[in-house]
Amino acid sequence: MELNIVHADITSELCQRCAACCRIYLTLANTDSRYRKFLRTIGYSVLPPAVEGEQDCCDEIHDVRLDMGSCKHLEITTGDEETSYRCQLHGTSEFPQLCADFDCVSWSKHNNAYNEDNHTIVTAQMALDALRNAGEEGPDNGDAATNEDAVP
Ligand code: SF4
Ligand code: SF4
Repeated sequence: MELNIVHADITSELCQRCAACCRIYLTLANTDSRYRKFLRTIGYSVLPPAVEGEQDCCDEIHDVRLDMGSCKHLEITTGDEETSYRCQLHGTSEFPQLCADFDCVSWSKHNNAYNEDNHTIVTAQMALDALRNAGEEGPDNGDAATNEDAVP
């Protein structure tokens, strides 16, 4: 996949079709295999996943990520042809500053993660491609996207 998404592409129209950054991951440092097996058994989605046929990924001590699923404030509407997303906190005093500030392009470039291994930026690119393929006008304003646009 070609990554060509840029900062100016990050608009509310795109975010409403993406919401990749509303999927919540927590990092746990220095987990051992016994603890990872425990987490897997009680229902957490632990990354990296267990090796097929095994209870864990390896015997080493290392960091893991927990996939917590979508933010509880994300409203998901599934239509016949597309899924759309809306943040129930957007526009309220509870809207997190972190969400207001977030821009996946700037974030991934800053973290040297603007590549195909980055699920967030790949999902954003796919949402952008779908918008373009639908024949809709992509964002074409000279204004920098405001972070208030994130998943309204
Ligand atoms: S900021 Fe990026 S990752 Fe988040 S919803 Fe918008 S396009 Fe998707
Ligand atoms: S508060 Fe809203 S913008 Fe922030 S992660 Fe949750 S749904 Fe997404």
